[in-house]
Amino acid sequence: MVSLLEKAAAQPRALTHRELAEVLAWPDASALFNAAYDVKCRHVGRRVAFRGLVEFGNVCEKDCFYCGIRRGNANVRRYRMDADAIVRAAEWVCKAGYGSVVLQSGELTGEENAAFVEGVLRRIVAVAGDGFGITLSLGEQTEETYRRWREAGAHRYLLRIETSNRELYARLHPADHSWERRRDCLGALRRCGYQVGTGVMCGLPGQTTDDLASDIEFFAAEDVDMIGMGPYIPHPDTPLGRGVPWTPADAKDRLELGLRMIAATRLYLHDVNIAAATALQALDPEGREKGLLAGANVMMPNVTENQYRADYQLYAGKPCLDENASVCRACLERRIAAIGEEILWNARGDSPHWKSRLDG
Ligand code: SF4
Repeated sequence: MVSLLEKAAAQPRALTHRELAEVLAWPDASALFNAAYDVKCRHVGRRVAFRGLVEFGNVCEKDCFYCGIRRGNANVRRYRMDADAIVRAAEWVCKAGYGSVVLQSGELTGEENAAFVEGVLRRIVAVAGDGFGITLSLGEQTEETYRRWREAGAHRYLLRIETSNRELYARLHPADHSWERRRDCLGALRRCGYQVGTGVMCGLPGQTTDDLASDIEFFAAEDVDMIGMGPYIPHPDTPLGRGVPWTPADAKDRLELGLRMIAATRLYLHDVNIAAATALQALDPEGREKGLLAGANVMMPNVTENQYRADYQLYAGKPCLDENASVCRACLERRIAAIGEEILWNARGDSPHWKSRLDG
């Protein structure tokens, strides 16, 4: 059995589908996490790259069945930060030494939104400079919009496919949400010159270990640079989460599954950036640190103003709702030092996979 982990660690994409599924279900979780951690250290060292996360609006045109800010949830107080507030938050991120910001919101399309984001990007570049990293996570857009935002200064884009299983995707979304369109957006992002990120939820109802192995193979087939995955946590105001019982044992199992997914992804892809998602912390106060020790190398501290945080809940139990960005920074520094890792200050923390593709 050990030889399978060694085979995976020796070179990327070395496992068959069956072997990848076996690795995901590896009986000794610590051995799996340690093998993935060694691979991470080889490619990025014992270092964590930070991206300050600005959740600048929770208005969304879509209605995903699992999401707390879906259009159909009337219990959400909707907000959208103005351009000044977003630029201020990005400036704080830059001054705090995080090196990168992530701008995230519900999915909005159309000229007004495209122009608003473009204007914000140009202002952020003007205050933070070219070396500052800007990641967008703003959903499906036209290729023209992606290109416009790229030219205005964004250079990474995260668009989670949520699951590579089209039938499962269809069960999680209304009929007018298209898996194929989402997959095609990943291609458009690549053509526009972004570092491209995707990801999935793990622990979805009806999802199998085979599906998760296929998800990791999907990341490889799309040749993505960054992965942002999270365990599925039911939200009570959604069709998928309503009335679903949730116990501490469920949280423990879901956390372990999320960590297994990080580790197996690291073992299969080796040199991509992998985020330790905040959803891990919602399941365990030390969930993100555990994610780093299972092979993740990116963290996204929330820098959104406190008044908005509670209104941006994609899943139930989101942590740090009452802590401001400075408190988060100090808390994270302690947490990272406690696991013997170091923060990559004032650096964009680009994906090594992207760099090696550029090098040729
Ligand atoms: S998952 Fe994204 S696109 Fe779907 S409803 Fe939530 S914010 Fe909107």
